[in-house]
Amino acid sequence: DGHYIVNGSKTDITSGCRANQLTTAVRTGGEGHRGLSLLIIESSSSGYSVSSPLKKMGWWASDTGQIFFDDCKVPVDNLLGEEGKGFYGIMQNFQNERLQLCVIANMTAHLALEESLKYARERQAFGRPIAGFQAIRHKLADMATLVEASREFTYRVAAKINAGINQVKEISMAKNFACMVSDKVTYDAVQIHGGAGYMREYLVERLYRDNRILSIGGGTQEIMKEIIAKKLIGQ
Ligand SMILES: Cc1cc2nc3c(=O)[nH]c(=O)nc-3n(C[C@H](O)[C@H](O)[C@H](O)COP(=O)(O)OP(=O)(O)OC[C@H]3O[C@@H](n4cnc5c(N)ncnc54)[C@H](O)[C@@H]3O)c2cc1C
Repeated sequence: DGHYIVNGSKTDITSGCRANQLTTAVRTGGEGHRGLSLLIIESSSSGYSVSSPLKKMGWWASDTGQIFFDDCKVPVDNLLGEEGKGFYGIMQNFQNERLQLCVIANMTAHLALEESLKYARERQAFGRPIAGFQAIRHKLADMATLVEASREFTYRVAAKINAGINQVKEISMAKNFACMVSDKVTYDAVQIHGGAGYMREYLVERLYRDNRILSIGGGTQEIMKEIIAKKLIGQ
């Protein structure tokens, strides 16, 4: 009667608790990627429900929920693109999502570095600013070097994507590199802050927690390596 009937569920959906509509990958055909289509599903549809917000380590600024489709009625007009071509839409979207995650990781690392520089100049230990200790100075130098290298790599990949050049391998590399940098820099930022870095009132505590998802969401570090290896080796 002009509707798809959708059954299933999907967990870990960012802003899922307050979303009005979701772009959803559904199986409209047989097994494999050619059986997938994209549907826009309204949260007001019959058979649509959502969990309470899930309790998370970080990213408290956005909710994350589980969505349930129980004989959910979706008008056929809500099909995005062609039936059976959903996988290609997902892959195309991943390129942009991974680029955004590179930018988030670079910005997280940048903020952690800025906060650390400020704190190292202000905090006095043994009668002098901790920025005077070589152990701290070298940490800051390494952090700044990594932030610079990661940001430039992301910009280069972004420019090539903008120029229409396929960057599936490179965006996977850039995401892993940016996340490796933000992991290291947020860890060191907390270290430079000492006990204060463990306290909620300091930004680096939040950056450290919020950062943890970046090498998991949008394709894990391991999946990025699989993509890179497949492109390198050809199988
Ligand atoms: C806060 C948050 C928000 C999210 N938002 C969204 C969202 O809005 N939309 C959405 O669709 N998803 C979202 N996700 C889901 C996220 O994309 C997945 O959690 C992520 O892709 C990993 O999948 P998984 O949790 O099923 O891990 P699993 O697939 O169970 O992986 C577990 C471990 O095994 C490894 N592994 C799995 N398969 C392989 C393999 N083939 N080779 C090597 N290692 C492998 C993984 O790398 C990982 O280390 C969100 C998750 C979180 C935590």
